[in-house]
Formats: sequence, C-alpha cells, structure tokens
Amino acid sequence: MEYEAVIGLETHVQLKTKSKMWCGCANAFGAAPNSNVCPVCLGMPGVLPVANGEALKLTVLTGYLLNCSIPSHAKFDRKNYFYPDVAKNYQVTQYDKPSTANGYVEFEFEGGISRVRITRAHLEEDVGKNIHFDRFSGVDFNRAGVPLLEIVSEPDLTSPEQAYEYLNALKDILLYGGVSDCDMEKGMVRCDVNVSVRPKGQKELGKKIEIKNMNSFSGARRALEYEIPRQIETLTNGGQLFQETRRWDDVAGITEVMRSKEMAHDYRYFPEPDLMPFEPTEPWLAEVSGRVVELPLAKKQRFMTDYQLPAGDAQSFVWDRPLGEYFEALAKRSKNPKTVANWVINNLRAKMTEANETLVSEQAAMGIEPEDQQKFSFSDLKFKPEGILELVGLVESGKISSKIAQDVFVEMFQSGESPEIIVQKKGLAQVSDTGAIEKFCDDAIAANPNSAADFRAGKVAALNFLKGQVMKLSKGKANPNLIGEMLEKKLKE
Ligand code: ADP
Ligand code: ZN
Ligand code: MG
Repeated sequence: MEYEAVIGLETHVQLKTKSKMWCGCANAFGAAPNSNVCPVCLGMPGVLPVANGEALKLTVLTGYLLNCSIPSHAKFDRKNYFYPDVAKNYQVTQYDKPSTANGYVEFEFEGGISRVRITRAHLEEDVGKNIHFDRFSGVDFNRAGVPLLEIVSEPDLTSPEQAYEYLNALKDILLYGGVSDCDMEKGMVRCDVNVSVRPKGQKELGKKIEIKNMNSFSGARRALEYEIPRQIETLTNGGQLFQETRRWDDVAGITEVMRSKEMAHDYRYFPEPDLMPFEPTEPWLAEVSGRVVELPLAKKQRFMTDYQLPAGDAQSFVWDRPLGEYFEALAKRSKNPKTVANWVINNLRAKMTEANETLVSEQAAMGIEPEDQQKFSFSDLKFKPEGILELVGLVESGKISSKIAQDVFVEMFQSGESPEIIVQKKGLAQVSDTGAIEKFCDDAIAANPNSAADFRAGKVAALNFLKGQVMKLSKGKANPNLIGEMLEKKLKE
C-alpha cells in the first residue's frame, strides 16, 4: 500500500514592537535576565493589561498580507495551564474569535506555484524562558508578554521540502511587511509541525502527530523527513498510531513521545475579563491597509515581466530589497533593463560587498563591536545612479567596448566621476577609425604569418587569435566588429 503525508504548520512569530503586549516593558532580545519586567508581565495579582496598539495593527497587517479576512469582532481568551515560564498560570490568546481568518500563502515550488490555506493568524503573548544550569533551573521573564502571532495553516502541505519552502515564503512575507525581524537565532520564529499519513487516495485524515517547538526551518524539514517514514513503517508493520505530541531531538535526529495530546477543554479557555473585545473601525483598518506592501513573489513576477529579467536576477532583487529598489529606479529610465540588471548585480553588488568588507575590518581594527559597526550602504556611493545608465549607453553606442566599460565602472565607483568624463580623460574611447585599425591589422598579420596561413587554409579559429592580437595592439580600444571585418577582408585579398 502506498501512503501519503499530510502536514499543517502552526508558526509563532514575535511582532516587531518597541514594548510588550500588555505593559510598557521593552520588547528586546539579549538584555540581562529579568531586567525587562514589571508587575504586569510578571503576573502579579491585581494588575491590569493595556493592549499594545501597534501589535494589534501588525496582526491585522499580517492578515492583509496573508489574504485573510478581518472579522469585525475579535476577542481575547485565557488559556489556563501551569508551567514555570507562565507566572500568571494562563496565556492570553484568541481562541474562537481570532483577529484574522481564511487566507492563503502562495510560493514557488517544483516549478509551479503552491497555495497553502491559512486557517487563522491570531494574537497572543510569548512566555518566559526556562534556563537549566548544572544544579538548578531559572526563569527569565524578559520574553514574557512579548506580542506573538500564531499563524495556523490548513493541512495542505504534502512533503518536508514543501513545508520548508512554505516556512521560508512566510518568513519573507513577514519581513517584507515589517511585521517581524524573523531572526531565527533570537527565537523570533518557532513552529509546531503537525503531520499524519494516510493511504494514497483516502479522503479521511490519519492520526495527527504534533512535533512541538521547532526553532529552525531545516530542523522542521529534518523532523518531517524522520517522522513520515516512521509513521508509514508503523502502519505497514500492522501497528497503530495515536494522536500525540512528540519532541525533536536534533542531535540524535529522531522524534520521541512527549505526552499524549491535550484537548482544548484541558485548558478551560474563557474570555479574558480584563480586556475589551477588539472591534476595528473603518478608519483604523484603512490606516493599516495603507501599510500593505507588494509581496515578494508578486515582485519577482513583476520584475520578470516588466523588465524581462531571468528568474535568478529577479530573485536577487527580491532578497536584496535596497538593491532591487536601486535597480528599479534605473530600469524605469532604461530601454535595456536586463543590461542594467547585469551591471547592478555583477558589478555594483560585488564592489559594494568589497567596500563593506573593508569598512567592517577597519572598524574591527579600531575595536568597534560588530553590533555597533557601520555598514556600507547606497548612501555611501560616490557616483550618481545615472552613471550606470551612461555606462550602458557608451557601450551600446560602440563608444567603448564592454571590457573597457568594466574598468570605467571601477574608476567611477572609486572617484565618483561620470563615465563620459573618465573615458575622455583617460582616452578610452573605442577606436573606430578605420585607418588606425587597418594599421593594427597589417601589423598583426605581418607578425603572425602562420596564423594568417592557417586561416587561408580554412582554419576559422586562427581568425580569433589574430583578432586578439589586434585588440592587444590597440590596448583594448579597437571596435571588435570592425577588426573582424577588416581582418577577414585582408586575409581573403
Ligand atoms: P488542534 O485542535 O489539535 O490544535 P487543529 O485542528 O487546530 O488541531 O490543527 C492544528 C494544526 O494541525 C493545523 O495546522 C492543521 O492544519 C494541522 N492538522 C490538523 N489535522 C491534521 C492531520 N490529520 N494531519 C496533519 N496536520 C493536521
Ligand atoms: Zn512588563
Ligand atoms: Mg488548534
């Protein structure tokens, strides 16, 4: 019997706000343990929460970015449970009335577009962090009360690779929207992986197994690569699967049972009595929808159609947003955006990387810590963006060869001078003067009689060698088309 996998993901994302969800404490990573805390986020009796307006906006913004509907009535609920990292003994979340619902995410997968439906994205709060030492454990509450979005997908994914691509696409969307910094290293994105298997073609879903708290996308992929065959093997051997929660052991590369699945009633959810329901007004929604940005996939597709870019170039511009913006401003003014893209990706980006490395090592030598170091950016460029258009124009009109243009670019990058001026000052203009080129051709033929004879005997490759010689004599400035024509004419005489 053949089996297929069914996967649904619950992704937790920390929102990019200055303060926490219900109090004024800083939402900041890396502070000394328990330094960003107050009676509210420590869950002291009698305190009252005040909702963070920006977190509400980022939640609804996410809803828009994920094509969700925004219900006119949402509310907060208490999810009750005991654990040392939850001082209040409950977590505030949105249970049956979430702020966003019924959306989808689209992303590229295996040469096509995959669409994964989003059940809901609801707002909740992060909890503290248990830290285990040799002889004792501690709790750091700095993270407690940080606004957290839970994005729940429908069980639409069918393979570990597709789940991995979905997670990356989701992260790119949230980064683009400015919803979260999505720094995996700082635990800003974590996910629970739900997976079941069923005989191929069967409609009914198999027993769901949840793998909790994955903190890397590659970990989620590996856990699925382990878990799916495990489930299939169990069924194939006549065994039975139970709905349960498992843990991924990254070192051993296996999943193991944590507990049998808890049920919703175990949490005794009830409406949070200290918070009003959330009913966004039209002007408020309009303000949030004004913050919607073009999604990464849409941008890639637009760059491919509007500027005739190959997928790889378009992708580079999607990943590197400032580079993409720099390119687009130029591409709009150019008849040949693909050439402009080549200059921006192959030359400009490479030079900027180099300049950044120099800048960073200079600062490191001065003892400046990495997080305080300045990065080389577009505002540090000495030349005007039009310089690149000018350069493309000089090559297109045949005034300079594309090889010389490389040198002109380097000079422009260093001095900030315009290509026209550099070409003029350094006498780099391509020689199209037939008299001068004729002289170089005669000299090349005279100096290489064997190659000339080879060409006359039918060896076409010999012509390329002679072209190279003429180029050398002209110091790279002869117009290559003219050289070819003239050499051939002379050799056939
Ligand atoms: P629970 O009530 O246990 O939280 P939900 O129905 O809310 O379960 O689903 C939680 C996540 O598990 C969702 O992402 C959903 O797509 C996924 N899921 C649900 N049933 C299955 C299944 N049989 N196999 C794989 N994933 C599933
Ligand atoms: Zn606080
Ligand atoms: Mg659920």
